[in-house]
Amino acid sequence: MDVLTTTALSSPDLMQLEDRFNAHNYHPLPVVLTRGEGVFVWDVEGKQYFDFLSAYSAVNQGHCHPRIINALIEQARQLTLTSRAFYNDKLGQFAQFITAYFGYDRVLPMNTGVEAVETAVKLCRKWAYQVKGVPDGQAKIIFVEGNFHGRTLTAVSASTDPDCRRDFAPYLPGLITIPYDNLEALETALQDPTVAGFLVEPIQGEAGVFVPSDDYLPKAYALCKKHNVLFIADEVQTGIARTGKLLACDHHGFKPDVLILGKAISGGVVPVSAVLSSDEVMLTLKPGEHGSTFGGNPLSCAVATAALQVVEDEHLAENAEYLGAIFRQRMANLIKKRPDLLTLVRGKGLLNAVVINDLEDSQTAWNLCLELAKNGLLAKPTHGNIIRFAPPLVMTEAQLDECCQIIEQVFGTFEKP
Ligand code: PLP
Repeated sequence: MDVLTTTALSSPDLMQLEDRFNAHNYHPLPVVLTRGEGVFVWDVEGKQYFDFLSAYSAVNQGHCHPRIINALIEQARQLTLTSRAFYNDKLGQFAQFITAYFGYDRVLPMNTGVEAVETAVKLCRKWAYQVKGVPDGQAKIIFVEGNFHGRTLTAVSASTDPDCRRDFAPYLPGLITIPYDNLEALETALQDPTVAGFLVEPIQGEAGVFVPSDDYLPKAYALCKKHNVLFIADEVQTGIARTGKLLACDHHGFKPDVLILGKAISGGVVPVSAVLSSDEVMLTLKPGEHGSTFGGNPLSCAVATAALQVVEDEHLAENAEYLGAIFRQRMANLIKKRPDLLTLVRGKGLLNAVVINDLEDSQTAWNLCLELAKNGLLAKPTHGNIIRFAPPLVMTEAQLDECCQIIEQVFGTFEKP
C-alpha cells in the first residue's frame, strides 16, 4: 500500500491497519482522530468531539496551543538535538526557569513519565548509599497498592495490578508495597532503617482517581522527615495545574523532596519529563551514571518553557479548581437521578471519575463511553467500571455546561443491556 494515500482512508480502514500491523498493547475506543484545537478533536470523517481525556492529562493547555506550537516551530528551525555531549543554549535557561517555577535547586530532564520515575528511583538509591549511609545493596523504597508509575520493569515491579505484572517476572528487588492512604502501615514500614524513599501519587489517577484522606499526604511527609526518608511525589498525572493547584501536593502546603513530572510539562507536544530536587539529592549523581540522548534537548526545553508559561498566564490551575467544583456538583445531582447506574463522583480540580454501579468486569462503562462518543464527547473507562473525566484545562464554563448536558443526557437515558 502507498503510505502517502493514508490520509484519504476511512476510520474503519485506519483501525484495521493499526490492528493488523501494530502491537495489541492498547484497547482504544473506535474513534480515529486527525486534528485537535483547544478542547476539541476531530475524527477523519470530520466529526467534532470534546476531549475529556486530554491524552491522560498531557494536553492540559489544550490541543495545539498556538504559543507552544510557535515555540516548537521556531526552535525546530534552529536546533533540535545536540545530545548532552555538548552544551546547548536552551538547557541552562530552561533549568533556571523550571527550578524557579517549582522551587527546587536542580532539575534532571528526561522524556517520558516512566523514565522520570526510573530516574527518581536511581537518585533515591544513590542518596541512600552516599548520604543516608544505608549499607551497600540494601536500600529499599516504599510504594503503595494500586499505584501506576508507567511500564518499565521498575514500575511493573512496584505495581500491584495483575495485568501490569503478569508474565514480566523476575521483578526488581528492594521495593516494599503497603496499602494506600494508610499512615499506620507507612509508620510500620518506616521502622526499617534501610528504607530510603516513599514514592507515591498524591491522587491515584490510573487506579480510578482515588483521592486519599485530607491529612494523609502531609502526615506521610512528616513521617518521612522523622525517619530521614525521601518523600518522592509522582505528579506525572496530577501535576501542572490538573487538580486545581500547580501541584497536587500544593493543596497540603508541603514540598516533596523529589518531584516527578511529565505529560503536561510540554502540553502534550513532545515527550518531556523531569525530576526536581535539592542539591543534596541531585549532586549524588556524577557524569556517566545516568542520562538520555534526548533528555534536555533544545526542542523540548523551548516547548516546555512555553507550555509552563501558558499554565501561569492563562491561570489554568484556578480554572481547573473552579470548573472542577461545578463538574462534581452536576455529576452528584445526576447520580441522585440514576442511582441504579451511577455510584459516586470523586476527584480534585479537573481530574475526576464517575464510578458505575455495576460489576467491575461489566461492559457498562465501555458502552457508556461509546454512547458519549456518539454524542460528541470522548472519555475512557479506567479499571473496569470507572470513567475518568479530565478535559483540557483551557475549557470555558459555557463549554463545560455543554459537556455536562451531553453526559446528563447519555447517562440519564442509558439502559443497561
Ligand atoms: N506516573 C503516573 C502517575 C502516570 O499516570 C503515568 C502515565 O499515565 C506515568 C507515570 C508514566 O508516564 P509515561 O506514560 O509518559 O511513561
